[in-house]
Parts: sequence; C-alpha cells; structure tokens
Amino acid sequence: MMKKENEPQCSFCGRKKRETQILISGIEGHICENCVNQAQQIIDEELFQKHKKFQFNLPNSVKPRDIKKFLDGYVIGQDEAKKFISVAVYNHYKRLNQTKSDEVEIEKSNILMVGPTGTGKTLLAKSIAKFLNVPFAIVDATVFTEAGYVGEDVESILSRLLQVCNYDVTAAQHGIIYIDEIDKIARKGDNPSITRDVSGEGVQQAMLKLLEGSEVLVPPQGGRKHPEQKLVKVDTSNILFICGGAFEGIERIIASRMNQSKVGFKKGKDKENVGNDNFLQYISPMDMRSFGLIPELIGRVPVLVHLDPLDKTALSSILTEPKNALLKQFKKIFKADGIQLTYEDDAIDYIVEKALEYKLGARGLRSICEAVMTDAMYELPSQSDIKEFVVTREFVEEKLENTKISKLKAA
Ligand code: ADP
Repeated sequence: MMKKENEPQCSFCGRKKRETQILISGIEGHICENCVNQAQQIIDEELFQKHKKFQFNLPNSVKPRDIKKFLDGYVIGQDEAKKFISVAVYNHYKRLNQTKSDEVEIEKSNILMVGPTGTGKTLLAKSIAKFLNVPFAIVDATVFTEAGYVGEDVESILSRLLQVCNYDVTAAQHGIIYIDEIDKIARKGDNPSITRDVSGEGVQQAMLKLLEGSEVLVPPQGGRKHPEQKLVKVDTSNILFICGGAFEGIERIIASRMNQSKVGFKKGKDKENVGNDNFLQYISPMDMRSFGLIPELIGRVPVLVHLDPLDKTALSSILTEPKNALLKQFKKIFKADGIQLTYEDDAIDYIVEKALEYKLGARGLRSICEAVMTDAMYELPSQSDIKEFVVTREFVEEKLENTKISKLKAA
C-alpha cells in the first residue's frame, strides 16, 4: 500500500488517521477515539480513588451503569451477572443511607453467584470491592464447621475482614466478603436429616445471623487457637456478602424441574426446546433448595445470578483485553528486558483450544501460558542481542507437548 506522507496520527497511540474512526486535532497534536475513551476511564478511576482510604458512600454521580462499565474493564462477558451485581451494589448503598425512621426498609441485597469454575466469580467480587474502595476479604466456606466441632467457627469469616483493614472496625462494617465454595456446605440430599450434619446444614444455620445483619463477637485472630484473645464486636448489617459456587450438577436439577413443569402443560416438542440450552440461565431459588441450601439461607442471599461457561471468543478476549490481561502481563515482563513480545493470532487460538479442552475455564489459561513461556523467560533475558520475540502456533504446540501440562486431560 502507498504510504501517505505527513499523514496525521494520534499522538498517544500512534495510529494513522486512516486507521482511526475519529482523529481530534489539538494545538500540538491529535488524539483518536480509543485514546479519548481510555483517558476518560483513567479520569473516572483516579477521581474515584482520590477520596480517603476507604469510603462508605457512592458519589451521587455513580449509577448502576457506571458500576457495570467499570466491571467491563476487568471482567469479560457475564453481562447479566454484571448487571445484577451493579444494581445490588447500588441498592446496597441506598440502604446504607436510609434513615432509621423510614417506614419502608430496604433490605440487604446479598448476592449468590452460580457458575462453573474459572468463569470470573471471584474476579467480579474483587472488582466490585476495588470499585467501591472498601475492605474486601475472600473466605472459603469449606473450612467452617458448626460451633463446637473441629474447624473454624463462622465468626472467623469476619476476622479475615478485620485483618485486611488493620482492625478498623468501622471500615470492616462497610466491607464486602466473598464466601467461595458455598455449594460445598449444601445439605447432602434433599430431605432435612434427623442426624446432625456437621459440615453442611449446621454451618448454613450458623451463617444466617452473619448474613442478615447482627452484632457478632469476633475472635480478632480467627480460629480457636487463641482462646485468651479479646473478642471484637462487629455489626454485620452493612457488610455486603457475595457467595459463589460451581454447584456442580445443578444443571440436571434445573433441567428436570423445567422439563417436568413443561411436560405438565405441553408434551413432546416443547420438552425438547429446553434441551440443549445453557440451563444455568434458568436458575431459580427452588434449584438452590433442591441442591441442599436451606431456605433461610437462600432468603438471605436474594440476588441470585448465574455465570456463563466461557467460550472460545470469551477466552481469547480474556487473554488480550482486560486491563490486567495475561498477555499484557507477559509483554510487560519482556519489555522490562528490552524485548518486544508479540503473539500471532494462531498461537492465541491454540492456547484457547487447549484451555477449553482442560475444562478449567479461564484458570487454565494461566497455567498454559506459563508452560509456554517459561523457557523463553529463562533464556531470553541473557541474550542481549534479541530485541523481538514472536510467539507462533508451532512454538506453543512444541512447548505444550514437552511439558507436564499436556498430561492434563479433561476429566
Ligand atoms: P471462579 O469463577 O472460579 O471464582 P475466578 O474469578 O477466580 O474464577 O477466575 C480465575 C482467573 O481467570 C481470574 O484470575 C481471571 O484472571 C480469569 N477470569 C475468569 N473469568 C474471567 C472473565 N469473565 N473475564 C476476565 N478474566 C476472567
């Protein structure tokens, strides 16, 4: 193609006029539409973070759409979950600001996320906490047991939160807690058992008072190892709880509920209509109950959202697009050694195909990329003459064949 002499270009990213949609001229240079957008995002974030260390109010200008837009910068896809969470968080702050004398009381909007592993549940919770600039702790439901049994008391969920904000109780009382693997404390079987279910139902019962909002005495160091520690009183009314779990097998429960109810009205053809869809999108509290969550717990996490399995397009976007995208991270690592790293599209496709094969969601991407890049990261920094490195499909294939990860076959 003929090169146009003196063709104006964006002074920020260097794109030529013909590569942009809009190129705005200034006194000293030009700016393209992409760079305007990025600059706006930086301004929004900087202004938002400029407040004090932790803040307990949403600025008036922030609406659910703005929260979703922020999440878009970190989480690929999962639009419906992002929408639900944005609304829940927005309403959570409305609730914090309501006056006590109000007749109508807005209740807590704790969130329950259901979706396969590695689809962004933790990332969503983390990103929300980042946006709100409030203390955030992740806990794993599997380590908790009912009081009096071996394991940690549920109160130590709050110890984690106190620890991340340096025991600032006011900050902790406005924080967000992500309880992972909530599905692992499901009651085994649909019927309430007459014997005690130490790991499941008992823990669910114990969690109720935390979730609904009450004053809880918390061992600051967590656990039970320090019986002498002075307990700290924490009010959980304003803590937002986000629970997440893969709920393996839930699709079957949803499918059977839907097909049954469909068959009740229409037979045959309609039953098939529900057949091949992603059943998670039809999830309802009833399915949570069939899975083994107790109704009281379900009632305290009223915002039920599902996350979609990640397809090829989503996985390759995850590799390249988010602010902290994996490939951007590798590029940065190489750049520090003066090496320009690029990935051919074919190479990215191959990495994505492998991740799909391993069925680890986006989590597989990281292990695959590490396996592919380790030799290069080991060798290249010592070779000062190399200034550019292109990752091709052949390179990826060869590296994956020679590593242990190739033994990782989908179950
Ligand atoms: P889980 O659903 O099991 O909680 P995570 O949120 O921990 O999954 O995701 C694991 C990793 O995969 C994250 O660190 C993130 O980098 C990446 N990831 C997963 N889903 C997405 C997504 N939808 N968009 C961007 N990155 C994602």
